[in-house]
Amino acid sequence: MKQSKIFIPTLREVPAEAESVSHKLLLKAGMIKQNASGIYSYLPTAKRVLNKIEQIVREEMERIDGVEVLMPVLQQAELWKESGRWDAYGPELMRMKDRNSREFSLGPTHEEVVTSLVRDELKSYKRLPITLFQIQTKFRDEKRPRFGLLRGREFIMKDAYSFHANEASLDETYNDMYNAYHKIFTRVGLNFRPVLADSGAIGGDHTHEFMALAEIGEDTIVYSDTSDFAANIEKTEVVYTPNHEHTPIKELEKVETPGVHTAQKLADFLNVTVDKIVKSMIVKVEDEYVMILIRGNHEVNDVKLKSYFKTENIEMANENEILNILGAKPGSIGPVHVDKIKIYADNDVQDINNLAVGANEDGYHYLNANVDRDFNVEAYGDFRFILEGESLPNNLGKAKFAEGIEVGQVFKLGTKYSESMNATFLDEQGKARPLIMGCYGVGVSRTLSAVIEQHHDDRGVIWPKSIAPYDVHLIAINPKQEAQLELADQLYDQLRNHFDVLYDDRKERAGVKFNDADLIGLPVRVMVGKQASEGIVEVKRRDNSESQEVHIDDLQDVLN
Ligand code: ATP
Ligand code: MG
Ligand code: MG
Ligand code: MG
Repeated sequence: MKQSKIFIPTLREVPAEAESVSHKLLLKAGMIKQNASGIYSYLPTAKRVLNKIEQIVREEMERIDGVEVLMPVLQQAELWKESGRWDAYGPELMRMKDRNSREFSLGPTHEEVVTSLVRDELKSYKRLPITLFQIQTKFRDEKRPRFGLLRGREFIMKDAYSFHANEASLDETYNDMYNAYHKIFTRVGLNFRPVLADSGAIGGDHTHEFMALAEIGEDTIVYSDTSDFAANIEKTEVVYTPNHEHTPIKELEKVETPGVHTAQKLADFLNVTVDKIVKSMIVKVEDEYVMILIRGNHEVNDVKLKSYFKTENIEMANENEILNILGAKPGSIGPVHVDKIKIYADNDVQDINNLAVGANEDGYHYLNANVDRDFNVEAYGDFRFILEGESLPNNLGKAKFAEGIEVGQVFKLGTKYSESMNATFLDEQGKARPLIMGCYGVGVSRTLSAVIEQHHDDRGVIWPKSIAPYDVHLIAINPKQEAQLELADQLYDQLRNHFDVLYDDRKERAGVKFNDADLIGLPVRVMVGKQASEGIVEVKRRDNSESQEVHIDDLQDVLN
């Protein structure tokens, strides 16, 4: 492609609102242009990178027998009502009406659509397992679209869904997917880590996220320095170790609390003491942070908290916010002193019966206790994170922390969607049973951006070979010199047979061309300059500063 013909509107200055390196470079290198908040056009070079990432994803999906489909973006509300997510998904779901006032959403994900697609077709165990995938634009009305393509409201995702007759089959595909994701993110050149994760709103109970390590990452992961163990700290809970005892005011029923052994293991990992541990969570209510103390294996979710505080205006503080409130840095696992924080007992919440707080003995808690009513509590103490106790290796070592960008996630969904949406198959005995499902997402456009976060320098992007928009940047340094233009034209024709070539044939100053070439970041640059008449060109790789003079007869070998 000739640079005089392509559309690469590079910028001298970057708009001030660009907060991350990748966002800045995407704008500066003329790869994307913002249309509205979180909505972008992908310009030619970005589109080529997307194509390459998509091709890698496609190859790895097909290698594990995934079959490509393309499902509708526009999704009927009825399907979402069947699964219960029309209400549960919240404001991230883009909703709209057609001319007949029928409700639709713009697909943020496709569990409902795919379940409705297969429920009439996959009627026999003989057709299972099967994995369908698609690569498509998704829509989510994110509360805070930011960092360019990293958190858009319109973005490209690969989503795959698998259907099974039994758990063993699901396990097998989950494993294949996990390995395929490993290959995908390795091939695109990311430094990443798979981590245990929280399943959140989508349902299901077993899931890993693939995290590209980068400071700008909105997720924090905790990992072990001596084993493969790694988890999103969303999967962890805040541990509060009060300095002062919670003194009961009246007689309360004391019950044993299970799971102390796990707590002990985790406490060792995090180098904390388990005694007097109270699990806690911090939520933001009407601009005030309050801490909720919980004892036991109960789940507290947004809905319950909202009914408790009788307000819609409630936000779970994320880990970074908690650290901010507590004045702690991720990685500083040491004690955090808290001066003032309001404490609520959660056992007033109607739905959460029998929750108790404030046990002052290891392994026990009080039933139906209320901090304000039944206890004197002073909120001074240490906060740490613990992990939910599953799948912990024995050689946990000590905790380390890092920031990550979630580029992919694999889920075991189980029968959440097949049961609510009545998608059954006939097993070998001819009995109807709900399909067992898995789902697997890759953020394609986010991956592009994550790669830039990891591969750049002051001058621009440094594309890994596997996904670079072009392989070779051919530059006619001074196309006004006939010998240079002639040789450059000739090389363009030759090299194109073997490589994707971007040919800078523009009548611009050399300095401008070099700056643009650094910014665009193709892996190797071939410069046709003063020695053109001798058939000698200069070859320079983007990832180091050395350059070499090469005779055109050897050029193809050098580039390979
Ligand atoms: P996040 O935690 O960042 O909001 P998610 O967990 O909501 O992401 P999933 O539902 O797991 O996202 O979607 C699959 C993949 O799609 C994610 O792993 C991520 O790479 C990508 N993705 C999700 N939301 C966005 C977004 N707003 N912009 C770009 N990519 C996204
Ligand atoms: Mg999200
Ligand atoms: Mg997530
Ligand atoms: Mg996710």
